[in-house]
This record gives sequence, C-alpha cells and structure tokens, in this order.
Amino acid sequence: MVDYVPYLVGAIGAGILVFGASLFGILTRPEGLLAVLWPANALLLAAFVRVPSMNTPIGWLAAFGGFMLADILTGSDVSKAAWLTVANMSGVAVGLALISKLDPEDRNLRRPSGVLYLCLTSAAAATGSGLMGIAVALIVFHSDPVMAFVFWSSTEFANYVIILPFAMTVSRLPDFLNGWQRLAGRVRQDWKVLLGGMPALSLAFSLVMVSFVGGPGAIVFPVPALLWCALSYRLSVVSVLITLLSLWLMIVLELDLLANLPEGADPYYGVISTRLGIAMLALGPLTVASIDRARSALVERLDHAANHDYLTGLLTRGAFMPLGQEMVDRIAAQKGRLTVMVMDLDLFKEINDSHGHATGDRILIEVARVIQRNLRGTDLFARLGGEEFAILVPDIAKVDAQGLAQRIRKAVEQASIVAANDVPIHTTVSIGLLYRQPDQPIRIDTLLNEADRAMYEAKENGRNRVVAR
Ligand code: GH3
Ligand code: MG
Ligand code: MG
Repeated sequence: MVDYVPYLVGAIGAGILVFGASLFGILTRPEGLLAVLWPANALLLAAFVRVPSMNTPIGWLAAFGGFMLADILTGSDVSKAAWLTVANMSGVAVGLALISKLDPEDRNLRRPSGVLYLCLTSAAAATGSGLMGIAVALIVFHSDPVMAFVFWSSTEFANYVIILPFAMTVSRLPDFLNGWQRLAGRVRQDWKVLLGGMPALSLAFSLVMVSFVGGPGAIVFPVPALLWCALSYRLSVVSVLITLLSLWLMIVLELDLLANLPEGADPYYGVISTRLGIAMLALGPLTVASIDRARSALVERLDHAANHDYLTGLLTRGAFMPLGQEMVDRIAAQKGRLTVMVMDLDLFKEINDSHGHATGDRILIEVARVIQRNLRGTDLFARLGGEEFAILVPDIAKVDAQGLAQRIRKAVEQASIVAANDVPIHTTVSIGLLYRQPDQPIRIDTLLNEADRAMYEAKENGRNRVVAR
C-alpha cells in the first residue's frame, strides 16, 4: 500500500504556505495596484522543487485552495479570486517546468551561472503569469490587456528574482537552528565574533541613507554594503539579506514615488521601473556571493587534495611535518607526553611481485583503514611514502602506547583483501615506537629518525613486531 501520509502532510504544507504568503502579499498591496511583494508564487515554486512530497496533484489542489481562501477572506468575489489564482499558478507551472531541468548546482546557486538561469526561469514564469493576466484583464477587469501584460509580467519577474534565490538557498529549519546555536557558542567564547555583523550593520545604515537622502540615485545606495555582505556571509544568509533589503526598498521607494506623483499622473510606469530596478540590483551581489561560494568550495577541494594522499586519504608527509611539529611544540610547552610510531609493511615487494601492483594498492588502502579505526581524532596519521606510515599520539601513558601499537600490529595481521582468484591476501607490519616527555623544544625529524631506527630493529628481529624505545 502506498504510504500517503507524507503527501497529505506535503499538501497541507503547500496550502498553508500559499495562504500565509498570499495574505502577506494582499496586506502590502497599495490601493488599486498589484501587491508590492507577492512572495506566494516563488515560495510555492521553490517548495515544489525542494520538497517533492508537496509537488503532487493534491499539493497543487491545496495550493489552489490557499490562494482562493486568502483572496476570498480579504473581500474578493469567487470568480475574480479564481482568475487571479489561475494566473498565479500558471506562472508557477512554467517556472517549475524550467527549474526542474536545471542542474542542482545551478538551481542552488552553487555556481554563478545559476544566477543567470534563475533569472531566465523568473522571466519565463513571469511571462506565463503575464499571459494569463491578459485573460484576467479582458474577462474580469475589462482593462487594457497590453498594459495588464506589461505590468503583471514585470511585477512577477521582480517577485521571482527577489524571492526565488532566497527560497532556493535558505537553510532548512534544523540547519538554521543549528547555525544559530553554533554562532551563539562562538560569541560566548569570544565576543569579537560579533564584529562579523558589521557588513549587515552597514546594510542597515545604507537603508537609512536611502530614506534620508532620497532622490533618483537612492536605489543604488545599498550596493557597497551588499557587496561587503556578499563577500562576508554564506550564500543562504546573503540571499535572506537581499530579500529583506528588496522588500524594504520597494515599500520605501514606491510610497515615495506615489506620494510625489503629480495629480492625475499614471503611477504604472514609475512603479514598474522601481520594481525592475530593485530586482536588477539584487543580481550583482547575488552573483558575487555565488562566485565566492564556488571559489571557497574549490579552494577547500584543492587544499584537501594537496594535503592528503590520493590512495589512502591519509595526510601526506608534507602536511604531516608542520602539523606534527605544532603538536610536538605544544606538548613540550605543557611538559606533556608524546608517542611517535613509524611503521613499515613487511615484505611488501613480494605482494606486488606475486599479485600485482593494483592488489598492493588495495592492501595499502585496507591497512590504512584498519589502523585508522584504532586511533582517536586528536592523533595524527600520515603515509610518509610507499608502504611506510607514521602516527603521533598525544597525552598517552607509555603502557597504553605500547598496547595501542600491539593492537595496530594485530589488526594489520588480521586484515585481508580478496584477490582475483578468491585467495585472501594478508600482510604484517613492523613498528618502531618512541615514548617521550619532552621538556624542551625538539624537532619532529629527530623523533621520526629515532622511531625509524626502532622500526629497523623490529625488522632485524624478525618483522611483525613492535620495538619501543
Ligand atoms: P621490508 O619488510 O624489508 O620492508 O620489505 P619490503 O618488501 O616491504 O621492502 P622494500 O622497501 O624493498 O619494498 C617496498 C615495496 O613497496 C616496493 C614498492 O614496489 C612497494 N610500494 C611502494 N609504494 C607503493 C604503492 O603506492 N603501491 C604499491 N602497490 N606498492 C608500493
Ligand atoms: Mg616494507
Ligand atoms: Mg619501506
């Protein structure tokens, strides 16, 4: 039997979302004009993409009901409400058809081309609504259909451009709450973290300037602050800020426009121009935020690749040495305890020679995995090269360090991989262990050399054993 509960919940969610967002839109509607900001359509579109259980026939039906209910409760008659709802939902349908074709990387603005694609999706969805707007103008309002199309599609375009990036990137509730909790924790540790709020503060200040200075240039006053935010915050935060800013600008600039309109003048062109201007304003900082996100992700990947061994995923020698030196310095300063292990697989050449290099590689991966399982997060584990590994273990007693080395030796001994002809292949490891309580600065190379000598002693004594010094 199909479990219909998630779909029912999804549909109820879609209905509530649309109802709430429509009420918001209706309440911000200036007398006789379309709403200042109509978030319902873009929010519904994003919800259909992000929560697939909403995008079902009953989900669409519930959304229809949400639109209708909000309109009727605020005084529209049923047939007018139905026409407006059909126009809204045709835009959503067009947008959904396009956005579901986009690569998720673009859809979530993880790369800058996504801004362009969301912009085009917005234009198409707006055109869809605008075309239905012609029908609404002819049948319901008996008004000029060309004007209806222009006004409806431009307003819808602005709505989609302003809301869609926010709705597509905003964190889901648990991640959002988690983020706040982490932030609160960091602020408690160091209040200076609060200085990170400066870009947002400068954005608020730029809005004060918009109201205070005014004039035709006011619309771009927030650009520097927006760019600062785009370079400082995560994309999801930037898109929230952009949406809030746009809403604020629309209210302030449109009220200003309407208040200063000469008697009897047509408000439409001014309002269309303002809304489009605000929508376009959002695209630049959004692109910057997206580029910054793509760049950070790339740097992270390169950084990981540079510091980790391709085969085993362990630290490389180059990454291990400075990290190890840091740990040694810290332990020497605290007069703490330190264990260094150097280990080398036994007669590994034979495995390569009789089973092939690829099989040898698989053993190396498996050995790294079983050793890692015996370590803690604070230990440093590296592949020094070839079939040779090193481990730095902080704050552990000598007996425990020896116990750990024996556990590692046994784990490697018991590990195996299955070769092509179904025979299991085993290996063993020789470990040199060095235990120190350093009270003065000491170089990591010196420690490794000494552990290396212990390891060679283990080899000379017959391999598959631990020699401690
Ligand atoms: P011993 O017990 O004395 O250490 O003997 P051994 O055979 O392990 O020592 P030797 O240093 O002569 O050989 C090491 C071998 O490890 C030789 C090399 O082919 C192999 N080896 C090094 N790096 C890799 C690798 O990335 N993959 C594979 N498959 N083999 C490797
Ligand atoms: Mg070896
Ligand atoms: Mg070797």
